[in-house]
Amino acid sequence: MRAMVLRRTARVEEKPLVIEDLPIPRPGPKQILVRVSACGICHTELDEIEGRLPAKLPVVLGHQIVGRVESVGSSVSRFKLKDRVGIAWINSACGKCSFCRKGNENLCPEFQGTGCDVNGGYAQYTVVGEDFAYPIPERFSDCQAAPLLCAGAIGYRALRLTNLEDGQILGLFGFGASAHIVIQIAKHKYRSSPVFVFTRAGQKDHQDLAGKLGADWVGVTGDTPPTKLNCAIDFTPAWKPVIEALRVLEKGGRVVINAIRKEEKDKDSLLELSYQNHLWLEKELKTAANITRRDAREFLPLAGEIPIMPQVQEFDLEQANEALLLLKQGKIQGAGVLKIT
Ligand SMILES: [Zn+2]
Ligand SMILES: [Zn+2]
Repeated sequence: MRAMVLRRTARVEEKPLVIEDLPIPRPGPKQILVRVSACGICHTELDEIEGRLPAKLPVVLGHQIVGRVESVGSSVSRFKLKDRVGIAWINSACGKCSFCRKGNENLCPEFQGTGCDVNGGYAQYTVVGEDFAYPIPERFSDCQAAPLLCAGAIGYRALRLTNLEDGQILGLFGFGASAHIVIQIAKHKYRSSPVFVFTRAGQKDHQDLAGKLGADWVGVTGDTPPTKLNCAIDFTPAWKPVIEALRVLEKGGRVVINAIRKEEKDKDSLLELSYQNHLWLEKELKTAANITRRDAREFLPLAGEIPIMPQVQEFDLEQANEALLLLKQGKIQGAGVLKIT
């Protein structure tokens, strides 16, 4: 099979992914072999390529995979040949530890990430445990469904972790790939909840999109909204929005950080953190890490029902380096997806 392989970390500008011929993997017990038709590209892959997130090299990247079941290993019961499935960042967890037993398999010490600890979807085929694959709703094309498996599912988890109740006010800090999906889920599930969106100054496109998607108030991080927020999600790589979210948070409210890393250069903002203004009166700060199967299983049908239709820009498998460079430069319209034939 053809695959784009990462053998060493390097800047994306150096085009480090190389097309190779690899043997088609064989599904083990309870595993399925998936013929990949689409795989989304993600900022996390920039981190893997450039060495900020350690991946097990050599590796085939890609954790937003859509394809069809090509063959099945022994004892497979969830799927049959030709079923359309999606695969997300969570590739496996032990199923036995205290985290797994409570449904927090995203925190399992043996957690394996797709396209990081094991080979992912920048290839014609991949294997996965049948318990870690999900049916894709009919209404999506393969390419449309791919971005839902990362930005969508993780956004869904972050929203779930806020404990938002219908009627309460939700704040979103940063309005990129994940936030623009979260606002659609929030508006669908919590019909009486106002959503306030905070962007960086000058992000007119993001602000306009937020308005179109139903934001009840749109401002800039640092602004004081008309009412305090009951909960908020921070989607940014910076610290300032976290401090600002805590400042405009209602008593007993919660801020969820939906980011894999925070930028070092902005950490002076943390010096502004005051116990009295930002944390006192039972305000909470929580982070969202990875996803669980529950998140993917609940989110995908919901995305079909709403419906959430991601805007995608398609590339060939061999163009993965170029697509990732465009992603790094912020030049992709919507979500980038590799179309694999
Ligand atoms: Zn991702
Ligand atoms: Zn476990």
